[in-house]
Amino acid sequence: MTSEEKTIFKKIIDGEIPANVVFQDDLCLAFHDAFPQAPVHVLLIPKQEIENVDSLDDQHRDLAGHLLLTVPKVARLLGIEDSGYRVVANCGKDGGQSVDHLHLHILAGRPLTWPPG
Ligand code: 5GP
Repeated sequence: MTSEEKTIFKKIIDGEIPANVVFQDDLCLAFHDAFPQAPVHVLLIPKQEIENVDSLDDQHRDLAGHLLLTVPKVARLLGIEDSGYRVVANCGKDGGQSVDHLHLHILAGRPLTWPPG
């Protein structure tokens, strides 16, 4: 894959563009969203390139579990575990996905309305 084909998140993983990192381990990376939609808006991504939730299959079982189990760790680092938060995975065109690398939005810091737009 050439550099031009990399997603913005792959470039962050590869250290080619900066990000405000909250947490990382061997498998995943959490960093603040550049265009926050709430007072706290962090993105949690796998370091492995996976397009979106719809691309997940049995080979990703451990990684998908790890990603979800990392959410409460990140929430504690952000201090939002008591006030609460929302976890969102936009998928595909109608899901509003704009970056084709699987990511979980972690949103907090204000009451979030439902249903989403
Ligand atoms: P999506 O719309 O695909 O669900 O979410 C992509 C998210 O990536 C958006 O919330 C957008 O603000 C964020 N984003 C796009 N480019 C960058 C960037 O270069 N750095 C960071 N930290 N976030 C980005």
